[in-house]
Amino acid sequence: METDRGARRKRTIFKRKFLSCICSLIIFLFFLTGSLLCAQQVLRLQAASGAAVELSARSLQPGEVILAVAHGTSDSRAAELTFVGKDYVFAANGPAGLPFALLGIDLDTIPGSYRVTAVFKSEAGQKEIVEQYVRVRAKSFARANIVLKDLSLITPPPEAAPRIAQEQELLTRVFGQSSGEWLGQGNFVLPNPGRISPNFGEKRFYNGLPRSPHTGVDISAALGEPVLASNAGRVVLARDLYFAGYSVILDHGLGVFTFYCHFSKLEVQEGQNVQRGDLIGLVGSTGRATGPHLHWSLRVRDARVDPLSLVSLALE
Ligand SMILES: [Zn+2]
Repeated sequence: METDRGARRKRTIFKRKFLSCICSLIIFLFFLTGSLLCAQQVLRLQAASGAAVELSARSLQPGEVILAVAHGTSDSRAAELTFVGKDYVFAANGPAGLPFALLGIDLDTIPGSYRVTAVFKSEAGQKEIVEQYVRVRAKSFARANIVLKDLSLITPPPEAAPRIAQEQELLTRVFGQSSGEWLGQGNFVLPNPGRISPNFGEKRFYNGLPRSPHTGVDISAALGEPVLASNAGRVVLARDLYFAGYSVILDHGLGVFTFYCHFSKLEVQEGQNVQRGDLIGLVGSTGRATGPHLHWSLRVRDARVDPLSLVSLALE
C-alpha cells in the first residue's frame, strides 16, 4: 500500500515536472519564434463567381509583409491585386499549390485605411472587381543611440561622397530590376541560427546624431560563421559597399529581395543562382558595424519590410 502510494506520488511528481517542462519549452519556443509563427488571415476578398483572395499577415502595420493567396483557381493569371498604389501579379505553386503574391507595407506607411482591389479574370476573359479596405495600425518603434569611436562612419569624409553616391545609384538599379518569374521555393528561413534582435524600424542615433532608421534585423553570430540563402534566388549583388561592407543581395523574383551585410568573406558571385540554405558568405563586421553580426533586410516591391514577418508566412 505504502509502496503503491509512493509510486503514485512519484508518478504525479514526474507528471507535474514533465508538464512544467513542456510548458517551459512551449513558452521558450513562443519567445524564440513568437515573431515567426503567428501570421493569420486579415482579409478575404470574395468574388460572386466563387473565386477569392485571402490575405494573411502577422499584423497590418508598417514594416509587415502580407501573403495573398488566390482560391478557386490554380491559374496564377486569374487574379491581380492593387494595394497602396502598386499592382501585384500572382505566382504559381504557393500554399497548397495555389497562386500567391507577397505585398509589403513600407516602414513609413501612414496609419489609416487603404483600399485593396482584386481583379478576377475568368477563362472566358470576363473581369470581376472586388474592393475592400484594410486598416494599417500605427506601430511605435524603439529608439537607440549607438556610440561609435570611428567618427568617419557617422559622418563620412568628403572624399567618400562619390563612392557613396555611386553605390546608392547601384542599389536603386539593383532593386529596380527583379525577375518577372518567382524564383523562390517554399518558405523563407532564417539565414543563421544566432540570437535575433527584433530591431527592425528602430529609430537610430549615432553618438546622439539622428540617422536613417534601422531597416533590417541583426542576428548575433561569431566571425566566420556561415550565412545561408533564406530562399532560392539569383545573386544580383555580391561586393563591398561603404556602409554595408561585404554584402549579398538575392533576387527571389516579383520584386522580393533579401539583403545580407557586414560579411568577412563573400561565397557567391553576381549572376549566380542559389538554392535555399546555400552558403552565401561568412559573418564579419565590415562596413558600418560595431562588431561581428549579420544585418539582414528585405525589400518587397520597394517597401522596406521586416524579414521576420516574411519568415512567419507559410508559402508551402
Ligand atoms: Zn543592423
